[in-house]
Amino acid sequence: MFLTRPFAALAILAGITVGALPCFADDAPGKVIAIKAAHLLNVRSGAVLNQPVILVQDGHIKAVGEALSIPPNAEVIDLQGMTLLPGLIDAHTHLTFNPQDLGYSSVAISIPRETLSGAKNARVTLEAGFTTVRNVGANGYSDIGLRDAINAGDVPGPHIVASGPALGITGGHCDDTLHAPQYHWESEGVADGIPAVMHKVREVIKYGADVIKICATGGVLSFRDDPQASQYTLEEMKAIVGEAHRLGRKVAAHAHGGDGIKLAVIAGVDSIEHGSYIDDDGIKLLKEHHTYLVPTLYLADWIIVNAEAIKLPKPLLEKAKVVVPMARINIKRAFDAGVQVAFGTDAAVYPHGLNAREFAVYVKLGMTPLQAIQTATVNASQLLGWGDRIGSIEPGKFADLIAVQGDPLNDVTELERVRWVMKEGQVYKR
Ligand SMILES: [Zn+2]
Repeated sequence: MFLTRPFAALAILAGITVGALPCFADDAPGKVIAIKAAHLLNVRSGAVLNQPVILVQDGHIKAVGEALSIPPNAEVIDLQGMTLLPGLIDAHTHLTFNPQDLGYSSVAISIPRETLSGAKNARVTLEAGFTTVRNVGANGYSDIGLRDAINAGDVPGPHIVASGPALGITGGHCDDTLHAPQYHWESEGVADGIPAVMHKVREVIKYGADVIKICATGGVLSFRDDPQASQYTLEEMKAIVGEAHRLGRKVAAHAHGGDGIKLAVIAGVDSIEHGSYIDDDGIKLLKEHHTYLVPTLYLADWIIVNAEAIKLPKPLLEKAKVVVPMARINIKRAFDAGVQVAFGTDAAVYPHGLNAREFAVYVKLGMTPLQAIQTATVNASQLLGWGDRIGSIEPGKFADLIAVQGDPLNDVTELERVRWVMKEGQVYKR
């Protein structure tokens, strides 16, 4: 269903150095790395280990504990005074997009240029402590190419669960409505009607999608659509979900308006992205169906302050000013009601690498710091279907680890200042 890692091992065997920074001088297969620190946060329980040792071998965690003996031939990394956590997971990014390209400037950007932006943004995101992202929407399969290049060790970046083009209705949020009719332009994810959406699901999977992204309602940063209006019908979404699940892919639904949220949940999607106008019935449905909510809240703070600097078109800014305050009120009610939440940012709408600013918003809306950290670790790993390989520091999982200087349970903004990053046993930030 998801990514495999045959290439990393080949790269290591061939002595190829991958990563933003040189990896270990001697990272031969079988070599043991012992990581020592002052503390380690168990993100499931909130318990803190003191003077922990993590043993890493072949990119995976072999053992973790307070008084582990270190094999004599191990390479020791001593993170004195720091606290270790599992690598963070962002369930809603667009690595190949940038904030300055939200309006007409986007039409002048080629797919190769977007892909290269994605390579830079992937590195920045990894260095910020996000060792896995779910990328939900990109042009020209640039996200699939980026994922494969990272897996091959060609460029540094997080693990990517990628969607390829997002599915949407003609003229909807996931269609490009910038062009006049004589250009006959439509985005590659556009599909209307049951046979067409079934074909589109099969097509994006054919070209490498790990997950299916759909637009269930209008959006904020798009022209001539209403965030509160639903777009796909219940029947179309049922066809998409049926086909995706049959082929082993989950479905992420962009949805702001209350009706679209409910239709998408009834259709069986795995996550609601944004959820700005979620109401009591929507909250009840999400809980009944065990559907994840992926709120993307910090972006509002950044975009309203920086609208002029990025030349955000006025109609889009006007929509943002209406939707944003409503979203915070409604999402807080969903948090209070105990909806399952996975961390997401929509990074691209604001600069990549600032993803961790989302944590403080969750805490402001009532989560404890531990609950906020869980959204980006255990919860997000479950949403991605990767609960057996990421999301906690446990034997058998990828050695995806980060370290911070202070106590993130006391001040969650410590996660905005990640000091050290390891992904699959290789250090990308020292
Ligand atoms: Zn998005």
